[in-house]
Amino acid sequence: MIDSKKYMTTICILLGILIVSVVTINIFISSLTGIFTIFIDMIAAIISLSIIFSILITNKVIKDKKVNVLGMKINFKIVSLLFPMITFVADSVGISKNEIRKVYVKLNNKYIYSNKYNIKNEEILILIPHCVQKNSCKLKVTTNIETCAKCGLCNIGDLVKLKEKTNVNIFVATGGTLARKIIIDNKPKAIIAVACERDLTAGVQDVRKIPVLGVFNKRPNGPCVDTSIDVKEIEEAIKFFTSN
Ligand code: SF4
Repeated sequence: MIDSKKYMTTICILLGILIVSVVTINIFISSLTGIFTIFIDMIAAIISLSIIFSILITNKVIKDKKVNVLGMKINFKIVSLLFPMITFVADSVGISKNEIRKVYVKLNNKYIYSNKYNIKNEEILILIPHCVQKNSCKLKVTTNIETCAKCGLCNIGDLVKLKEKTNVNIFVATGGTLARKIIIDNKPKAIIAVACERDLTAGVQDVRKIPVLGVFNKRPNGPCVDTSIDVKEIEEAIKFFTSN
């Protein structure tokens, strides 16, 4: 569930900081170098207008209102550029970075869903975190997911059935380095990544040339232990990549 107020508060604070900084620069430095302040004012005006544009589009995306593809693309680029600053401001005012990451992944997913793809099942790569496997299970599904005995105690069994049914590639990634290696080795045309807010955001930012749909895992037992997946969400993502 996305708390849009926290994201909007953060980005408005960022806009406020920018405006105050520019006013301060104008008061204290304009008498020294006119061209310098004009340059600063122009940059600040461009950034401010970009932030205002982004606030309007992001608000629509969060509320699932219709936004055209170009608007979504430009907005996602703006948010990606400002992302380190947005998370820094959020952290400074006590807003969890995960609230910002949730919005970021939603913006990414909405943008991907606004495009059309015609990708074969076997060209789709599904990456899942190791914590989906039942903590007490001793089978080594990290090297080969089909090692799973499908006992029903965790979602790995459901994913093996999904792999058998659809022929998509499914791998368990124990970290970012392994995830990167799996992507390089398999050369997918689309990725469906399952992870927590932090890892999904890092993954989306890492993979630039391949569409990545992010799916959050559920963590009823806290982070990184016996997490679960909504397999239907993954099936819908596969359908989306293959059916256009
Ligand atoms: S479903 Fe597979 S991975 Fe999960 S606990 Fe059972 S055997 Fe282990």
